[in-house]
This record gives sequence, structure tokens and C-alpha cells, in this order.
Amino acid sequence: MKSTNLENLFHDSLRDIYYAERKILKALPKMMRAAQSDELRAAFEKHRGETEVQVERLQKVFELMGKRAQAKTCPAIDGILEEGEEVMESYKGSQALDAGLVASAQAVEHYEIARYGTLCAWAKVLGMDEAAELLQQTLAEETATDEALSSLAEASINSTAVQQAA
Ligand code: FE
Ligand code: FE
Ligand code: FE
Repeated sequence: MKSTNLENLFHDSLRDIYYAERKILKALPKMMRAAQSDELRAAFEKHRGETEVQVERLQKVFELMGKRAQAKTCPAIDGILEEGEEVMESYKGSQALDAGLVASAQAVEHYEIARYGTLCAWAKVLGMDEAAELLQQTLAEETATDEALSSLAEASINSTAVQQAA
């Protein structure tokens, strides 16, 4: 049965992104502390608040499915966050650190955008309108965060990264 299979796939993907969001929620304070620019720190802080709400939205989607909110290990986000840690360690004290933090954060956002785009499309085709609406709200926040990070990088962070130390 086609629809049953897609429902399973949807549920598995929901568990994957639930794991990812909770890992991201733990990683963002570290990134906030590492950021050199006040604007970048503020952007991470803002997104940390949004991520809390995103976790709650996912719990609501599980509830709408009559399922328990349960995470499933996402090796992709583990790897992306691990690379981020590596950048934080290797570029500590470097003027290029913030550029690296933006790059790491955008890798996270792009993973989320891919996952939420798919989940939204599947929710619609499965006739789960309320779930689709919730997932769409999160997708809009991930997209806005990605764009805000690009703007910050282009406005100041990238040029700071290439400045000669005084
Ligand atoms: Fe998120
Ligand atoms: Fe995953
Ligand atoms: Fe995000």
C-alpha cells in the first residue's frame, strides 16, 4: 500500500529531524559563546529561541499522528556539528573564526531546509494539513536564518576574515 509506506517514511524522517533539532539546540549556545561579532552572536541567540519552538512543533506533529515523540539518530547532523566543532577549535582566536561559524551554521540550515521541504511535501500528499502548516512555519524560519547568515557574512564577517591583524 503506497500511502502506508509513505506514512512510515514520513514518521522515520520526523524522528530524524527531531533528533537533529535537539542536537542543534545543544550546539547553538556553544556557537554563541564562540562568536566574535555581536551581530553573529545575536543571530545565533535568536535562532536558539526559534529552535526551541521548532522542537515543540515536531512534538505536535507526532501527537497529530498519534505517535510518541521519539528521536532516531541522524548521522548527518552529527557529522555536520562535528565539523563545526573542528572549525571552532582550529580557528579559535583567528579573525576567520566567525566566517567559519557562519559556514558551519549554514550547513546545518541547509540540511534542515532539505528535510523540512520534503516533510512538508509528504505531509500535504498524506492529507496531513495541520502538520504541513507547522512544518512550513519551521521551513520559513530555517530559510530566513540562512538568508540572515548570508547577509551578515557579506556585510562584514567575510571582510573581517581577510583583514590583516593590526
Ligand atoms: Fe531547526
Ligand atoms: Fe538525518
Ligand atoms: Fe535551523
